[in-house]
Amino acid sequence: MSLYDLIIKNGIVCTASDVFPACIGIKDGKISSIAGNLEDHLALEIIDAEGALITPGGIDAHVHVDERLKLLGEVADTMGDATRSAVAGGTTTLVAFATQDTSLTGPKALSDSVKLTIEDYVSQKLYCDYALHLILFSVEKSSVTGKNILDVQLQNVYQDYGVTSVKVFMTYPGLQLSDYDILTVMYATRKNGFTTMIHAENGDVIKWLIEDLENKGLVQPYHHGVSRPTILEGEATNRAITLAQTMDTPILFVHVSAPEAVDVIRRGQTRGMKIFAETCPQYALLSEEDTRCHHGVSQGNEEDPDQFIGAKDICSPPLRKAACQDTIWNAMDNGTFTIVGSDHCPYLYYDKLSNASKHRAFSDTKNGEFRYIPNGMPGVGTRLPLLYSYGLLQRRLSNVTKFVEVNCTNPAKLYGLYPQKGSLLPGVSDADLVIWYPDNAKKSFASKPKVISNKLLNHKCDYTPFEGFEISNWPRYTVVKGKIVYQEGKFLDNATGTYLKRMPSEMCAPRDRWPYPELRPGYVPS
Ligand SMILES: [Zn+2]
Ligand SMILES: [Zn+2]
Repeated sequence: MSLYDLIIKNGIVCTASDVFPACIGIKDGKISSIAGNLEDHLALEIIDAEGALITPGGIDAHVHVDERLKLLGEVADTMGDATRSAVAGGTTTLVAFATQDTSLTGPKALSDSVKLTIEDYVSQKLYCDYALHLILFSVEKSSVTGKNILDVQLQNVYQDYGVTSVKVFMTYPGLQLSDYDILTVMYATRKNGFTTMIHAENGDVIKWLIEDLENKGLVQPYHHGVSRPTILEGEATNRAITLAQTMDTPILFVHVSAPEAVDVIRRGQTRGMKIFAETCPQYALLSEEDTRCHHGVSQGNEEDPDQFIGAKDICSPPLRKAACQDTIWNAMDNGTFTIVGSDHCPYLYYDKLSNASKHRAFSDTKNGEFRYIPNGMPGVGTRLPLLYSYGLLQRRLSNVTKFVEVNCTNPAKLYGLYPQKGSLLPGVSDADLVIWYPDNAKKSFASKPKVISNKLLNHKCDYTPFEGFEISNWPRYTVVKGKIVYQEGKFLDNATGTYLKRMPSEMCAPRDRWPYPELRPGYVPS
């Protein structure tokens, strides 16, 4: 019997703290040892990394796939599709979303919502493991005693399914929670050690601006961004920080795009608050100009411009001015952003008839007004390669440890998956890793892509907003739980992905700092 199933040699092992040349020995799906040298005869299979970087597999903790309640309408990718695209781009764990089913009530309401979601994915071929956040868009009882109902519901969803994070919205009609209800959520998430994820945009102001723009006839894709200026993300972020301060609750802002939001997050962190934040590659690399197709800057044939093509780049928060990109990169490098997620939300574009198409903005009597364009873009397959080329190699990220930290290790720590996921710790971590192509190699590799094209991504989506982006590297091998699932552009038949139960976040313990001691839960007047 061999000591190892697989040895990877001649690689540079990169973690969030260290970078060093070593061999990795893998046994039974786990990292078994990391050593200066491991003899070939000890393993059944050898991979020669040829001097390339070896990083932990990416963890993409912000992925939307088709789910039973279709909260975002129909989308193109199933969980299976998203995991396939993920591993092709070096990501080996996804955290997607289960939606609260408001037809269910009582102590098991949230637990049953998650159960039904997992059941939908059981029969799908999954290329990597996944976990679920819970989207909460209504509290069962909107009163101060409602917090006790939610408390029990969260206890159950953790005990039954290991869910330890909830996402709430400060925008979107039908999903938006009031400040009052957000306090209820924060009470219960704090008590149960859950991570509270916040989509921060001022929904009431956005609603007014959309109606005003419509009255002016300004309804093109570009105006989506006009209706959601950066100051509204800054305001909502600041307000959520105030709520978190009132309730002594650590919080996490997802998909941060606005410099005003970065500023208030940074200030709060400097004051010692537990504020975490995620950004996405699209805010670092795309801009509102990409949505401007109606203004003569067609991205298609100049003779016959596609007047709707900017819809491809519609997401919320929207793409910002190109001048904002430096702020995003700097905040990624200086620790203001804890993690990078993709916010993969795959709608079709060229298929105009599907319910999962951006063109559903033309269904019934609609005329493609931006209010009806589904918000979201694909990205689970491009996140890691884009960050490698544009972040690491172009020195917007100071070093490879930062690349690993924001893409692999911090998502695992923030969402209770560490150290099983997110690192390469012998005896502890799953053998989820990426072997890149050697940078500066003398020989050329026919299988190494030079530009991003949609067919590279292996999702169901029929476009990528990053089409034509030049890239300097791409995952050469993606290994999931010790098995090669993707090698030099091809999939191997080794898909063994499954649902992951999580622990409470090790980052999100509250600090017990209250504006007044009387506000502490359980305070009894003496
Ligand atoms: Zn969101
Ligand atoms: Zn999202």
